[in-house]
This record gives sequence, structure tokens and C-alpha cells, in this order.
Amino acid sequence: MQKKYTEQNAPLLGSAQNWSIADAERTYGVSSWGGGYFKIGENGNIHVVPDQNKSDTKIDFASVLKEINDENVQFPVVVRFHDVLRSQVVSLNEAFNDVIKEANYTGRYNGVYPIKVNQMREVVEEIVDAGAPYDFGLEAGSKPELLAVLAYNTNANSLTILNGYKDEEFIKLALLGRKLGRKVVVVIEKFSELAMLVKISKELDIEPIIGLRSKMRSKGQGRWVGSSGDRAKFGLTISELIKGARYLESQGMGHTLKLLHFHIGSQLPDIRAIKDAVNESARIYAELHKLGFKLEYVDVGGGLGIDYDGSQSTNDSSRNYSLREYVADVVYGLREMCDLEGVPHPNIVSESGRAITAHHSCVITEVVGEIKPEGVDLDTVATENEHVLLKNMRYLHESLSENDNYQEVFNDASRWKEQASQAFSLRVIGMEELGKIETLYWQILRFVHAYYQQADFVPEEMQDLDYALSSQYLCNFSVFQSAVDSWAIGQLLPVAPLTNLHKAPVKNCSLVDITCDSDGKIDRFVVDHVLGKVLPLPELKTDEKCYLGIFLTGAYQDVMGDMHNLFGRLNEVHVFSLEDDPEKFYIEEVIKGTTVEQVLSIMQYHPSAMALDVKKTIDKEVALGKIKPREGVKWTDFYEECLGGYTYLRTEK
Ligand SMILES: *Cc1c(COP(=O)(O)O)cnc(C)c1O
Repeated sequence: MQKKYTEQNAPLLGSAQNWSIADAERTYGVSSWGGGYFKIGENGNIHVVPDQNKSDTKIDFASVLKEINDENVQFPVVVRFHDVLRSQVVSLNEAFNDVIKEANYTGRYNGVYPIKVNQMREVVEEIVDAGAPYDFGLEAGSKPELLAVLAYNTNANSLTILNGYKDEEFIKLALLGRKLGRKVVVVIEKFSELAMLVKISKELDIEPIIGLRSKMRSKGQGRWVGSSGDRAKFGLTISELIKGARYLESQGMGHTLKLLHFHIGSQLPDIRAIKDAVNESARIYAELHKLGFKLEYVDVGGGLGIDYDGSQSTNDSSRNYSLREYVADVVYGLREMCDLEGVPHPNIVSESGRAITAHHSCVITEVVGEIKPEGVDLDTVATENEHVLLKNMRYLHESLSENDNYQEVFNDASRWKEQASQAFSLRVIGMEELGKIETLYWQILRFVHAYYQQADFVPEEMQDLDYALSSQYLCNFSVFQSAVDSWAIGQLLPVAPLTNLHKAPVKNCSLVDITCDSDGKIDRFVVDHVLGKVLPLPELKTDEKCYLGIFLTGAYQDVMGDMHNLFGRLNEVHVFSLEDDPEKFYIEEVIKGTTVEQVLSIMQYHPSAMALDVKKTIDKEVALGKIKPREGVKWTDFYEECLGGYTYLRTEK
């Protein structure tokens, strides 16, 4: 598959003098992945356009940051733009309705939102509310999700689709939904579920609505390629579909079979996989129809992708089609096959989760420090009786301006540094000498690196210098909580500074988080269409905060994070756009992240008992006169305050 970006070690930085917003755009690709919602404003700050139909309503991230600080919400923070969520629900439904009309398609669109993608109550409520005019429904894939959708999808005209493996309780709950007058569709994932469903619905005398999931031969691509094909975990084979339908018929329940379902994977990068699967499903639908099973719905599952890297390609983190093309391929694909087969156009269900939610939230993290490979410089002035390794290194350093074979310089420096560490282990040189050798070594490397940045030809070995010399910016967040797919499956998530993009970035950096895990890092970025290990970022200053946005975290990332290092959930602010407001928004709600007490309780600790124990110990020390009484009270209060506080680093305002 043709990759639209090339892989190289590091992007080149623009020059500081003639840096423009266009350079910033090229570097960070905000418009490419922003889906129309994010842009770099003329003032160099990232702007959010919450409603694409009102492009002059813009929210400046600098104002959002200010308000978060004014409200004393500690970073890191998840920011949710509810208007973006609503806008995505409307776009999807309008796209289907438009194309259906244009194609003279006689079925309706009855989409559902699969809540596993982001189960947050506020997210589900907003989607249900924005989807109400379209009878947009919900999908559940587990018992807890089913309990949630039964309570939240109260529209009698919208669908409730139930996927995932089921037990008797699950089926009873589904039938409860039928009793409540809802259009609950139980999708059979494996053949044996059918007998269970028939048995329970007869016992309870409640008529189910049944869907069958087909195990597709058409393969998706990308990371979820295993969702189709013979080894797929879910779905019925052709023989099972026929046998299942006939079994229902034999039980006098043929008419309850209403839906054919497929899902060939999430984040489908290539439109061709969608076309193939739609075609295949339409054939199955038509054949079942001709066998006498008058199905009403074809459910095309999820898979509608997001262009995380902005390349519009078949990269795993991208997609080579637009929403409109996706919808057209579904509608026209079904129409064409149904017309050929002479069967009615089915209503269309889709289960797009990622596409609805990805853009609506982002994580704001503060850069709290810089980790340089060289540490700090030692004074390297010559002293008496130095070891020859140190002398050699200093000589190399002093003759840098006369030398022009920088590859040789690099080789010598590297060899001597290696020898120096062996010499240290063998007690030949001391710690001070080793420190000086390392200081000189890094200074030499910086010089060589600067030379090659100007050079026309850069030897392969030297290309790694850029990365070797780059800093790591320490960011106040946990990859395992907030960007888990970046660690787990190498998903690219766009990262960019939120403000001051009109100034040229000066450093190539990778990012590390505050967990004790070396895997807690982000070191894959697409910069100017090039995939590299570093991102150009501004210099850290003591008098100015540097906030980075990790974008498109609304799908999966928001809810799949774990408690590694007991960091827990982030503080959240929910932003709503407001035309009359001078800043065009207000923070409707602040949801507190997990406190230390809460994460400890989940791990079976008893925080109040712990506080009491610590207090008792302090009291004992006070009684012994080792701690002054006033001081003792302060320490006790401090311990309790930290227990009730946020799990992440507290930084000064
Ligand atoms: C996960 C899942 C979805 C959601 O897929 P997206 O690619 O996020 O839209 C839809 N349907 C089923 C059955 C799923 O398992």
C-alpha cells in the first residue's frame, strides 16, 4: 500500500526569522487532522470552530486555558467540546439523508451510536439529544452497556442494537426493552445464542426483534483486519445464517428476523474494503429475502475512519475517503445490488462511534521539565595528571574548527566515550574525569550536528544524531490513562502547542509522561507529512507555561485508559459555545478527576484509617518531643490534604 508520508529521523525546523502561520500549519498539520473544527488562528493560537456552519464563531484556546486557570482546575485536563459532538451527529445523519434522497433510495437511515467508544454519560446524553430529530439510537456490546442504553435510549422510534456475547440475563434485559416499547434488536453473534433467545422469549411470551451477524469474507484492512474472515471472533458463517433462519421459521418465528449485521473492523483505512463488504452483505440480504425472510434492516457496523495523521491515505492512522464518499458507497452499493436482485431497499443502520466522538475531546498537558541527553555541563579546564582519554577528547574538541572530517570526529568521540566508561568500571579513571569526558563528548556531538544541519549530504549514521541529541519534554499526564492506543497499537495522535504558534519552534523533542514506566512516552509524530520520532517545540521558559494539546482523544482513549501508577481519571471541563459571550464559550461543567483517596480505595486501601495511623504516629513523636505540636498538626493536615487531592503533579500557577 502506498504510504503518503515517508519515514525519516527528524523533521527540519524552519528558520526563526521568516516563520509564518503557514509554516506552523505545515509543521503540525492542524487543518489536515482538524476535521474543520481546529485551525491555527492569525494570532498563533489554536482556534476551535465548534459548528462548521458558523465558521466565524471561534473559540481561542488561550481563553479556554485562562478560564481553566481562573477556575482553579488543575492540569492535566480533558476538554470536551459538546458542540463538536452534536455537529458530528448531525453531519452523519444529514449525509445519509442527503444521499438517500439523491439516490432515490427507498429505505431510511436508522443509525446508532456504539457506546463502547465513549460511554461517558454526558457524551451519550449529548449524542441522544442531538440525534433525536433523526431517531438516532444506541448500540450496546455488554451487559453494563445494555443497562445504560435501556435507561438512556427512550425514543420509541430509534433502534437499540445489542451486539456482543450474551447470557440469559442479557437476553431477559433485551426483552424487558421490548416490554418498554423499544425497538431492541438482539444481534446473534454465535449460533448457540439463537436457541437461548427462542427459549427465553417463548417462556416470557415477548416477541424479540432478531438480527444475525454475518462473518464476512470481505476483509477490512488496518489494525482490525481480524474482525472478518474465517478466524473472526464474531458472526455466523453462510451455513449458520441459512440454518439459523430456517430454525427460526421452524419455531414460528421467521418473521422476527429483521436485521442483517456486519462489522469488518474499526478505522478502515481503505474505502475498497467498505465497498466489498456492502456488496457482500447486500447479496446475503437479497438471498435471504428470496428464501422468504423479509429482513428490514442492513446494519453496516462501524469502521468509518478518522484521519489522525492528516495524510488522507491508507496509513493505519488515516483514511482515503470522506464521510460523503463512505455514505455514498453504502447507499449506492445497497441500491445497486437490491435493484439487480429485485428486492426492496432495506433501511440502513450504521454504528459509527469513532467518527462521531474522536474530535470532540482533547487532553491538555503542561510541559513541566526537559530531560537533556547530556545532563549538565561540567567545567572541563585542563588539570594536571589527566588521563590520556580525557586529553584526547579535549584535543578533539579544541581542534573542531580546523577539522573537516566530521564523520571521523564522531567516530573517535564515540569510541573514546565507550573506552572511558570501561576505564571507569576498571577503576582506571575517576568519576570526575568520566564526567568531563562526557561533557566534552556531548559538546562535540552538538558541533557535528550543527555542521550536518547545514550540509547538503548527511551520512546515514549522522542522521541519528538529531534524535540522539533531542530533548525529552516531561509532560504532566499518563500515556496509559490518556493516550493508551499510542502505547498499545502505535496509533498516531496529533500533538501541538496550543498557543504561540506564530513563533518558530526551536527544539525537536519527544514526549515522556510522569509514570514510572519507560513505555510512558510519545515518540511518533507526523511533522510536515513526515513520520518521525520528534516534534518541533518551543523552548521552555520560567515565566511562561507551555501547554500541549493531545487531540482526537474522544474515541476510545477517553475511556480505555487504565490506572497504571494510580493516576486515574483527569479533571474535565465541558465547553459549550455561546454566541453572546465575548469569548464565544462558557464552561458548563467541571468534573473532578480521581482523587488519591479514590484510587487507593479501588485498590482496597482504607484512606481514612491510613490518615488516622499517620496521625497517631505523629502524635507519638509529638509526645516524645521530637516534633513540635504545631508542626505535628500541620503535617497531619498536609497528609490528609494530599489524600483528598489530585493524583497528577501539582504545578505552580
Ligand atoms: C467497536 C464496534 C463499533 C464501532 O466502530 P467504530 O469504528 O468506532 O465506528 C461498531 N460496531 C461494532 C459491532 C463494534 O464492535
